[in-house]
Amino acid sequence: MLPKWVARKPLTEMRIYLKYGFARTRYQACLCPRCHQILNAGPNYQPKYCAQCGQRIDFRGMTWIDDETIGYERRSNDEQIEDRVV
Ligand SMILES: [Zn+2]
Repeated sequence: MLPKWVARKPLTEMRIYLKYGFARTRYQACLCPRCHQILNAGPNYQPKYCAQCGQRIDFRGMTWIDDETIGYERRSNDEQIEDRVV
């Protein structure tokens, strides 16, 4: 395995999280290539090192994929409001 100070490209993977607690949102997660810790990285911020293991990360040439809303969780206390709107 290469030493930590040799910069490596992050791994990327599409993951889903609940935005605002109800909007199912697909986002591109960046993972450390060494320890697979999720890196808190995005188009506006990229850490130089993995906070977990110190692996140097090279984000140059990254293609960032925008978040995408893929659905909504139905909250029981919203149902009445939705019925009225429809
Ligand atoms: Zn790491």
